[in-house]
Amino acid sequence: AVERSDEIQNIRLKLPVVSDEQKIMEAVHNNNIVVLKGETGSGKTTQVPQFLFESGYGSPDSPTPGMIGVTQPRRVAAVSMAKRVGDELGNHGKKVSYQIRFEGNVGPETAIKFMTDGVLLREVAEDIALHKYSAIIIDEAHERSVNTDILIGMLSRVVKLREELSLEDASIKPLKLIIMSATLDLADFRENKALFSIPPPLLQSEGRQHKVITHFARKTYHDYVDEAFRKVSRGHRKLPPGGFLVFLTGQNEINHLSKRLKEVFHSGHSSSGPKVRISGKDAPMEAEDIDFGDTIDDNYDYDDDDELDIHINDDDEFKMDGEEENSGPSKIHVLPLYSLLPTREQLRVFERPPDGSRLIVLATNVAETSLTIPGIRYVFDSGRSKERKYDQTTGVQSFEVGWISKASARQRAGRAGRTGEGHCYCLYSSAVYERDFAEHAKPEILRMPIEGVVLQLKAMNLQHVKNFPFPTSPDRHGLELSEKLLTYLAAISPTGQITPVGSTMSIFPLSPRYARILLVGHLHDCLPYTVALVAGLSAADVFIPENQVIPATIPKEEDDFATNADRIEDEARNNLRRKFNKVQKDFCFLDDKSDAIKLLQVVGEFAHDPTEEWCQLHFVRFKVLKEILQLRKQITDLLRTNITAFAGLKFQEKLDAPSPKQVKALKQMVAAGFIDHIAIRADLSPNPPELRRKPTRAIDVPYLTLFPSQIQHDEEGKAVYIHPSSPLAHISPQECPEYIVYSYLQRAAPRIGAEKLPKTRMHALTDIT
Ligand code: ADP
Ligand code: MG
Repeated sequence: AVERSDEIQNIRLKLPVVSDEQKIMEAVHNNNIVVLKGETGSGKTTQVPQFLFESGYGSPDSPTPGMIGVTQPRRVAAVSMAKRVGDELGNHGKKVSYQIRFEGNVGPETAIKFMTDGVLLREVAEDIALHKYSAIIIDEAHERSVNTDILIGMLSRVVKLREELSLEDASIKPLKLIIMSATLDLADFRENKALFSIPPPLLQSEGRQHKVITHFARKTYHDYVDEAFRKVSRGHRKLPPGGFLVFLTGQNEINHLSKRLKEVFHSGHSSSGPKVRISGKDAPMEAEDIDFGDTIDDNYDYDDDDELDIHINDDDEFKMDGEEENSGPSKIHVLPLYSLLPTREQLRVFERPPDGSRLIVLATNVAETSLTIPGIRYVFDSGRSKERKYDQTTGVQSFEVGWISKASARQRAGRAGRTGEGHCYCLYSSAVYERDFAEHAKPEILRMPIEGVVLQLKAMNLQHVKNFPFPTSPDRHGLELSEKLLTYLAAISPTGQITPVGSTMSIFPLSPRYARILLVGHLHDCLPYTVALVAGLSAADVFIPENQVIPATIPKEEDDFATNADRIEDEARNNLRRKFNKVQKDFCFLDDKSDAIKLLQVVGEFAHDPTEEWCQLHFVRFKVLKEILQLRKQITDLLRTNITAFAGLKFQEKLDAPSPKQVKALKQMVAAGFIDHIAIRADLSPNPPELRRKPTRAIDVPYLTLFPSQIQHDEEGKAVYIHPSSPLAHISPQECPEYIVYSYLQRAAPRIGAEKLPKTRMHALTDIT
């Protein structure tokens, strides 16, 4: 039996889900698939796995011995929820484990396994019957991540398969599937005939544990970071004890706000005001999700601030509900929370803040679901998030800050009511909420490239991917383009069947393009370099963009005199810029025209000195580089164990610099994965467009994509341009190569009221010669 402490027992008894235990377990007993909807904080994530455990799931000597698997869309959730459930299970706590990419503590004892949905997806690919499990809980289904969607589709089949197997062999038990969500768009799932022939029962746990009062702003400001600073500062002075959780859209905003808050509340003289300001310019700059390996630093085209003109009401006074002044702690303890932060750093928000200080967590979407950060009583919601947009037809990606959905807003507010009554202060008005917030977010599968998904499904012998029971079917045209790409890459035959090359490609945790590069990468003894290169390419951006390294200047009023302090600051900034530029240049010593070779150089140098210090000195991200190192090892293992020709392959962490011949070969191999992503210098093309004036900088030299990318928005035709972060940006226009291979096209979000659309830019990989 499970023995729990009184404290835990008391908390559990108050959770709505706990009073529904019998109802839930009966439904699970009588049905193989159950959908459970319960408001945030009702106890789904922490309690349902324990109900299953206590009725015998996951115990080796019970009729249902397989593990209980619980998926989470985010890593920090998988780790922290495993810990919490372990604590709640008292004497059985050691049986709760987690598994995220490259890290986990699963053992023979494990009965409850928390994991990211990507981990389970891999396991389904390896064993379509999921024999290791007796039950699977898909948590946070409303987030509609691609992985969650695919899992739901796959598992509807796995459940059927296990049913059939159990009829033939009594030692095999049916698999139980529980889909849990706070705000499920239920129609899509339950009524989807392709997914479930009979709609699974829907259970609802009503009532949230603690009340959360939402306060809308009277006025909506476009500079929400600045507004967040004002409200958080005021709130800290006025509100009684209780932690703050502030939702922003990205790392830059978080760092800026953190700095401003620390300056005001730590320095003692709060009147001096902050030194660094963020403007609209700095907003859309970096991506959150490392699993998709993307990054945003394309603010180059911005030259003036964009104004979202929403002014509902001129009265901007912020009411704190008659709370008394100065009743809270005076010091602050500010912690950032975003996904590029090392997991260890992310977990710091769960520790007790120092006595006498208020915990202020500045977070992105990472904190929107799942997490219970102890002591949070007040949520400040910017109402915005940064979202990836992807045009299936043109292949152009952009990252745009936009309004969240009403469902997300409720989730965010819910974070304030986890351990007591709470308040949510919105940085937007109720009118904006009603008018501009969609009911639910658009599923991710409609917002990203899907060739990887298509390859995985084909590798599981699903020839006609359009017949897969997607909760929401991807765009038809996008599916066709993915199949076309996979045909170029020789992963599928012209009739759509997976080829032997395609099956091999699907083994690697890489997008099909990188897998393809890997498989051509053994010429000239290049394999260890190819491995390092594709590992680097598939991770998030290792480079910290210049605008994050060098603090922004405060725009001066015209009659302001430069003070001595200003001059010192300028000097420091210039020093930093010089250092930054030198480091970038040094990374290019093997080749000055290739982003790919520059990346390979960083990955290689890091392996010789894999420390945080080295990363700091070189303006690169430690977390990302460490993951690349692990990925290199994993890819090498997979090559050795799956391809006979590489049976003797050993992992070599430290590599010597590649020879010029190898560099050349590597550049050609990169092209193998991107044969449809080649651009020609416009003036050298068969039909050169007319130029109004000669470009003076490499980043203004127009290129034309060889495959039509149907980009029609540029004045000078369909031209695309070199991204300013590329080494190519630093050569002279005359030296610009004839052909460039690019990884993807990106366009900064168009600005309201701006005359010209921003340029479409190539994230270049290499020139080809
Ligand atoms: P749901 O999944 O329905 O949103 P959870 O099961 O995650 O809810 O959490 C239910 C409740 O359990 C929370 O509201 C909180 O009171 C408590 N709880 C969960 N995790 C923790 C934690 N790490 N520390 C303290 N209390 C927690
Ligand atoms: Mg939950």
